[in-house]
Amino acid sequence: MTGLFGVVGRSNVVSTLFYGTDYHSHLGTKYGGIAYVDDKGDTIKKIHDINNTQFKSKFTDEIKGSSSNIMIGVISDKDPQPLTFLSKFGPFAVCMNGLIVNKEELKDSMISDGTSFAEVYHGDINQSDLLANLINKKDSIEDGIQYMWDSIDGAASLLIMTPNGIYAARDRKGISPLVLGTDGSRWVVASESSSFPNLGFKVERFLASGEIVFISMTGPETVMQGSPCGKTCAFLWVYTGFPSSSYEGINTEVVRENCGRFLARRDDVKADLVAGVPDSGTAHAIGYAMESGIPFRRVLHKYTPGYGRSYTPLTQEDRDRIALMKLIPNKETIEGNRIILCEDSIVRGTQLKNFTVKKLRQAGAREVHARPACPPLLYPCRYMLSTRRIEELAARKAIIDIEGRDLDDQEMAEYLDPDSEKYRMMVDHIRRDLDLDTLRFQRLEDMIEAIGLPRERLCLYCWTGERV
Ligand code: SF4
Repeated sequence: MTGLFGVVGRSNVVSTLFYGTDYHSHLGTKYGGIAYVDDKGDTIKKIHDINNTQFKSKFTDEIKGSSSNIMIGVISDKDPQPLTFLSKFGPFAVCMNGLIVNKEELKDSMISDGTSFAEVYHGDINQSDLLANLINKKDSIEDGIQYMWDSIDGAASLLIMTPNGIYAARDRKGISPLVLGTDGSRWVVASESSSFPNLGFKVERFLASGEIVFISMTGPETVMQGSPCGKTCAFLWVYTGFPSSSYEGINTEVVRENCGRFLARRDDVKADLVAGVPDSGTAHAIGYAMESGIPFRRVLHKYTPGYGRSYTPLTQEDRDRIALMKLIPNKETIEGNRIILCEDSIVRGTQLKNFTVKKLRQAGAREVHARPACPPLLYPCRYMLSTRRIEELAARKAIIDIEGRDLDDQEMAEYLDPDSEKYRMMVDHIRRDLDLDTLRFQRLEDMIEAIGLPRERLCLYCWTGERV
């Protein structure tokens, strides 16, 4: 994931940019970056590795004494961003949120046409570098963005900062939202609306899919109309988004409570308490408790001081160690109890198995019943997250074990049907592997209803394999 933040104001906006970008820190752990137009009109960029530290600590000294009216910031889980360019459009800086699936093909054909890429890491080009080079092929930034969207397979929302303002462009498919806000004298655009209230901003509106807005000192102006028919990533509400954020005007915490309610409505398990795997499982568990009347209690406490946000450290060994250390079981609320455990999703399943269920069992849980808030994940994301391979997914591993091989898309139908025998076998395989007493996933239709948008307005590829 990646978080984007941009601000334009009549007075110095450095502090706004600093905190606004920092409020996107849950979306990435690799690079933090800012770009701004300084008082001489020059475009400046600064990027830091934030693997083992926080955006705040890296940029505090960096911004001291700076002054600017136009700035963009980014928290990135993949490439160093923003990148700056001197082009036929003048100087600009660009950062993006998305995934370009056909990056290699585009790179090869552009290199043979004479394009050079400056940002290369172990042979891998930077996605923002690729986007900027595609945009540069047309006669205006707006036309360049359209051309870029025509050329890529995948998705990209982006910010482009020029000496006069910021272009904000929401991915044409609508996958990753951008929200506009203002306090009357400053204008902001962000991935997360949760970055607004403490900085004094109110939400103005969400950009439409494919809409391009130019934000100048006089406010935002739509320079390319969008479409109301985009498909927003459903996983934002279930897992990746911040609880107080809204997308398309729909609040994340409330959706998670709704997910918990739907899980409870279909459930008949007897239990002493409902608990969530912190953090995002907590709201799902609260919703389950509200609906079922079974008390919500906390059985695992997240210890974050000193561990930072490192949910994707570099090596598996580091990830495992941090996962082990971060969640502290509370024997007083666990021992002897039958526990319904709400979780946002089951991806690989290894963390749930080794660092959650195992701890509950060791602390004396009588029964553990897991209730993921979304259906089994069967396809790795092809629009934003690129970290997982298909065979790493717990549900896919179960299918390979049952069938003796992986299946192609046409053969998957039965595993997508929650009323089929194959689906039941897959879930039972995962249940046994994770050492659970029972396991019941959310149904797709319930998750869609919990979000509250029509099915055709959501990306559901993770669960259905249907491309956007
Ligand atoms: S594939 Fe999944 S994670 Fe990726 S955009 Fe679609 S719903 Fe979101």
